[in-house]
Amino acid sequence: MLDVIVIGAGFSGLEAAKTAKQAGLSVAIVEARDRVGGKIWSVPLASGRGFAELGGAWINDSLQPRVWAYVKQFDLKIVKQRLEGMAIMQESENERFEFPFGRTPEFTPAEKKNLEFIRDHFQAESLKPGLPSAEVDNVTLDEYVCSLGALPKIARMVNLWSQVMHGLESTEESAAWFIDYCRRNESFLAIRADDSTGGQYLRFQDGAQSIAQGIAEIVGKENIHLASPVDAIIDHGTHVTVITRNKKVFQGKRCIMSVPSTMYKEFSFTPPLPSAVREVTNGTVLGDYNKAIVCYDKPWWRSEGFNGYFASYSGPITLCRDTSVVEKSHYSLTCFVNGLPGRKWSKLPTHERRAAGLKQLAKAFNNHPDVFHPIEVFDQIWQHEEFSRGALAPVHAIGHLTKYSSVYGKPVGNIQFVGTEYSSEWKGYMEGALWSGEQGAKQVVEMLQKPSAKI
Ligand SMILES: Cc1cc2nc3c(=O)[nH]c(=O)nc-3n(C[C@H](O)[C@H](O)[C@H](O)COP(=O)(O)OP(=O)(O)OC[C@H]3O[C@@H](n4cnc5c(N)ncnc54)[C@H](O)[C@@H]3O)c2cc1C
Repeated sequence: MLDVIVIGAGFSGLEAAKTAKQAGLSVAIVEARDRVGGKIWSVPLASGRGFAELGGAWINDSLQPRVWAYVKQFDLKIVKQRLEGMAIMQESENERFEFPFGRTPEFTPAEKKNLEFIRDHFQAESLKPGLPSAEVDNVTLDEYVCSLGALPKIARMVNLWSQVMHGLESTEESAAWFIDYCRRNESFLAIRADDSTGGQYLRFQDGAQSIAQGIAEIVGKENIHLASPVDAIIDHGTHVTVITRNKKVFQGKRCIMSVPSTMYKEFSFTPPLPSAVREVTNGTVLGDYNKAIVCYDKPWWRSEGFNGYFASYSGPITLCRDTSVVEKSHYSLTCFVNGLPGRKWSKLPTHERRAAGLKQLAKAFNNHPDVFHPIEVFDQIWQHEEFSRGALAPVHAIGHLTKYSSVYGKPVGNIQFVGTEYSSEWKGYMEGALWSGEQGAKQVVEMLQKPSAKI
């Protein structure tokens, strides 16, 4: 019998297995896909010019110590997010304006003041400790900012934050959930920043998935069972049996479950999870968080003085960033097609999705002729992925964050739950997945290595 069976080989599952193995325990990871990395997936470009990051891409060296330690350990080459140039704001399909990247968009003076007030409010809230109150958890983010006096255009900006941060509309998440997310992730401004103070500072030249592959080497490929979707988890009290769809059976003393909580309902648990755990996890949702990556032969937007960044109220692209890696002659714009616009876009056939994206890029970048001549295009819809069902990470139903805080993520019998959603640091990010995997495995190690009571 194994000491630990880990379900899922995303960052949290891999880190949990590595931590348990390094503590001397025997481990097996059972993973549904035929690859490791979960929502980190770096796909080689046909042109040979590096990789397209279909999932997570950005990291920070000083704020995210776990992920950065792997960059050093595996000697990975990184690239700094380019900040120079003009950014673009698209207010409607046919209205756009340019502004220096990193500044408040040029709205009217009253709107600018209002935006800065709302931004400063969230920054101040995000620096407070603890869980926000149940009262704040029982209102939507949209209701909350309207009660703060947000002007219509600024309430739409808050909606844009919710779309680009969580793949949801501001009417679909609670104000407390939004604030708690900012509290766990350094601060509101750290989440939004593209420089050394924030989450979008650095990227990988050869793909973020290199970290997953590096951890998998440490865990040992022979201990990782790919293409084995788990169906059933039976907790016998003395040990756990894990059964896959292709009828592989694993026996272990403990099980570490690293699949996002929204998907627990797809598993057969015996005995069933406690009703409070089912209520909170069945209530979580995964956002529409999609990427369309458009690769070009040359970075034409840079020569026109653009940063590559644009944000849009009209969609379907809600936000776009330059994701070039000059060292590889890789020039790309990564478009986030998120929230409600992403939900609608994801239902279109591939050619219509691409046409809609290129048409919007053309409007944003002054009808630059090169827009319509990409050399490669990727679009990745995480809601369509059977083993992810959306991204970034599960978001609680309104009121559930505070109502179920005493059970959410807590072990049940011999089952430990990990995943970026449970992290106290950089929840929703790679760093949070590593944090949670490490903490979860440490708890399992402590339980298994505790001297048993002698009667
Ligand atoms: C488009 C996008 C952009 C992002 N951008 C960033 C970014 O810039 N920076 C950043 O830090 N983070 C980013 N993230 C978030 C980051 O990818 C995640 O926070 C992190 O990878 C989550 O890791 P995890 O281990 O918690 O979950 P997952 O990666 O979801 O791992 C869960 C694993 O469980 C497996 N699984 C599912 N069902 C089963 C089953 N039945 N049996 C066995 N295995 C199963 C899955 O295949 C998967 O491997 C982004 C994500 C997306 C999708």
